[in-house]
Amino acid sequence: MSRDPHCIFCKIAHGEIPSARVLETDLAIVILDVNPVVKGHVLVIPRDHHAQVRDVPDQLAAHLGSLVPRVTRAVVAATGAEGSNVIINSGKVAGQTVDHCHWHVIPRFSDDLVDWPWPHEEYSGDEKAQMAFRITRELDGPID
Ligand code: AMP
Ligand code: ZN
Repeated sequence: MSRDPHCIFCKIAHGEIPSARVLETDLAIVILDVNPVVKGHVLVIPRDHHAQVRDVPDQLAAHLGSLVPRVTRAVVAATGAEGSNVIINSGKVAGQTVDHCHWHVIPRFSDDLVDWPWPHEEYSGDEKAQMAFRITRELDGPID
């Protein structure tokens, strides 16, 4: 089991800091976010310490991902939400503040305070084909 002694989510996963847990599995915990974007906002957190989503082994990611529909159904049913967002922030530039990868599940209401949608860029010329090629080439590596 990998653990970072300074990591707040490792401490929560090991029961050293209290949290409002709504689900536990061998590999993950699901807790209420202490400062919710919208009340009912939960975090799906692997017990093992992995700083960013790119560091999470595929099998563990599959387990975490498998919890998301069930957790979303529960959050939506419990809050009466009209919809939801599932978000992973990865890296400081993307808004990650706790360097232990986690999935946010956020209930959404038409009158909530979330500023959405994101802005959008546009591809020009062959940029789109080139980007698809570059990403596909990177994906050709081994699966762990
Ligand atoms: P991120 O900005 O994607 O790294 O998300 C970190 C989230 O963790 C934020 O939404 C915080 O409100 C939440 N958070 C930080 N400390 C705690 C804690 N002790 N218990 C529950 N949620 C926390
Ligand atoms: Zn950690």
